[in-house]
Amino acid sequence: QSGDERAARIPRYVRVNTLNWPTEEAIKSLISQGFSVSSPFESAKGFAIDEHIPDLLSFSPQTTFHEDPLYKSGKIILQDKASCFPAIVLAPPSTKDAVVIDATSAPGNKTSHLSALMQNNGKLYAFERDKKRFSTLTTMLSRAGCKNVLPLNVDFLTVDPLDSKYEKVTHILLDPSCSGSGIVNRLDHLLEIEIEDESDQEERLRRLAGFQLMMVKHAMRFPGVQRIVYSTCSIHATENEHVVRDVLNSDEAKSGNFSLATSNEVLPQWHRRGLPDELDDPAQASSLVRCLPGEDATNGFFVSCFVRDLSPTRKRK
Ligand code: SAM
Repeated sequence: QSGDERAARIPRYVRVNTLNWPTEEAIKSLISQGFSVSSPFESAKGFAIDEHIPDLLSFSPQTTFHEDPLYKSGKIILQDKASCFPAIVLAPPSTKDAVVIDATSAPGNKTSHLSALMQNNGKLYAFERDKKRFSTLTTMLSRAGCKNVLPLNVDFLTVDPLDSKYEKVTHILLDPSCSGSGIVNRLDHLLEIEIEDESDQEERLRRLAGFQLMMVKHAMRFPGVQRIVYSTCSIHATENEHVVRDVLNSDEAKSGNFSLATSNEVLPQWHRRGLPDELDDPAQASSLVRCLPGEDATNGFFVSCFVRDLSPTRKRK
């Protein structure tokens, strides 16, 4: 399959931004524009309600919304289905005292998704290292009506986990730079990845994996953190299962009592799981989620979730 063929099998996904209006209203509005509920592949004007992700709709791959007032006003977010998985798996609290971090935020699709799941309550720190991408992030957050987000143009690795500001942080989303090898409809997702020009692929992947490992270990140093989601839009085990394996073997995971969340906490209804042969314990693969471009009607993606075992006597898988 060529990249174009695989891209043609990926619907145009639209996440209704529930911070700005309810999904039922969005559906009514789309129907009044001539769309109808059917299959995204049946007709140019057909759309479906996603079976895995709440508030997600899928349209024919040719449908464009970039000039649509619904997109420009932040009522809908153009976000691939797989890229909605991390916020759902993180399941941030929506209470007034909730404190959550999005460690690598720009352009902000997952940040606004987290903010919506938190119903604009509590506080969501959104870090972004790159200045230009940070500016895209702030535009996107204000358009999406995210009022509980504090965007900061800061390198997450320089953030002191022991700073009292962060003592109540319980949930961290970590979606760092990766090779982007899972992205097939690149034009749509150009903003989500940092493309680096390097010929030595293996060396590049190893370098990215080293950085990704450092980021997850840093997240584990926040004293109150209970749940960390690590995701990539890569299909390479080096950036996915191998990073998970190295995290689990790290001093940070051991001293912090972190392990993988059980499979029933990580999108249990999703069929494609991690690669067993790439892990120390093949049984851990069931806790990991993968998406394969062309096969799963999404871009390639990987999601893992680390949880802190608060009772030292209870042992998770
Ligand atoms: N989560 C975003 C979304 O869904 O819209 C996409 C994130 S993108 C894959 C990774 C981002 O992390 C890039 O914007 C990159 O500039 C940023 N980044 C990389 N290293 C970082 C660091 N150490 N601290 C903060 N941001 C970082």
